[in-house]
Amino acid sequence: MNKRLFLSAPHMSGNELKYIEKVFESNYIAPLGEYVNKFEESIVTYTGTQNALAVTSGTAAIHLALRVLGIGEEDEVLASTFTFIGSINAIIYQNAIPVFLDSDKSTWNICPNLLEDYLITCDKKPKALIITHLYGMSSDIQKISDICKEYGVYLIEDAAESLGATLNGKHTGTFGDFGVYSFNGNKILTTSGGGMLVSDNKEWIEKAKFYSTQAKEPFIHYEHEEYGYNYRMSNVLAAIGVAQMEVIEDRIAKKREIFSWYKEFLGGIEECEFMPELENSRGNRWLTALTFNKTSYEKIMKLLDKANVESRPLWKPMHLQPLFNSSKSFLNGTSEELFKKGLCLASSTTMQKDDVKMICDIIKENLEK
Ligand SMILES: *Cc1c(COP(=O)(O)O)cnc(C)c1O
Repeated sequence: MNKRLFLSAPHMSGNELKYIEKVFESNYIAPLGEYVNKFEESIVTYTGTQNALAVTSGTAAIHLALRVLGIGEEDEVLASTFTFIGSINAIIYQNAIPVFLDSDKSTWNICPNLLEDYLITCDKKPKALIITHLYGMSSDIQKISDICKEYGVYLIEDAAESLGATLNGKHTGTFGDFGVYSFNGNKILTTSGGGMLVSDNKEWIEKAKFYSTQAKEPFIHYEHEEYGYNYRMSNVLAAIGVAQMEVIEDRIAKKREIFSWYKEFLGGIEECEFMPELENSRGNRWLTALTFNKTSYEKIMKLLDKANVESRPLWKPMHLQPLFNSSKSFLNGTSEELFKKGLCLASSTTMQKDDVKMICDIIKENLEK
């Protein structure tokens, strides 16, 4: 049997162990140290943001953003319904109220018109919007950002999946008041676990750093006026991050190449429709995602699994989750339709063209006519 092909397996650059050894030599194992600074600097340089804070996860980064913005009890926070729960949980941590917005067919991400309709008609103005750039593809973020400014709504970009994706040359994660990246195990880069909070506002990042380290006031005897969290990234994991950042552009090039192979083998077939790429944007194609018109994605998923190939349904929209059955949502049917028809295909950056061909052959043989 061939080795299992995963959706997005970790892919080390080769320098990780070398940097970890340096950390061990210095004995700055935890909590902080030189590599945390280096990792943050590499994100600042690469994305063009002004400030970055390395933390334990993408979820923690979103939580810090909400806390710094003062979002709490009874506040409404708009969010993508078509996303992963990691984008939403922090709203619950803050006892705020999520309101879910549906996607646009042209991006699979939040529809700007729907957002504007909501803001015109809602009784209570939401405090913030958390928008996901799904599967590494840029949302219509310039328009969304303009609308948020016009209506005085804070914008947090969940770019957990979209490190390196750009619109008009500007990085996703740098359009909003805050941006969030994740370095969890299956993201385009990984530190095994970790996240980054970015913002052009230096005071906000300073405040987030304060909350992420137990909210210690500047006294030697540990004085506390507010409560905080233990959310800061360890120097060991940051060393992995520094090595991973050295190959970010190689990884994106390979992800995009994998997508181009899928497109080459399946692109002409009406039954298969790939996730679109917004004009003037460059997605990182973290996962190649597509929908079938008539074919059951479950059938394809089972057949691929038999061939030792991982695939996964598209995210189940948040408004369909039992957890949120009493939450408000503003819908147009797009995310439900995508969820019914869609599949994410194996997109690990160690895959070869033959692997993709094998997967596409299985798909092609089993499409409904
Ligand atoms: C992975 C992910 C998160 C959470 O990131 P963690 O680092 O795992 O906490 C949040 N939102 C989206 C869209 C994600 O894919």
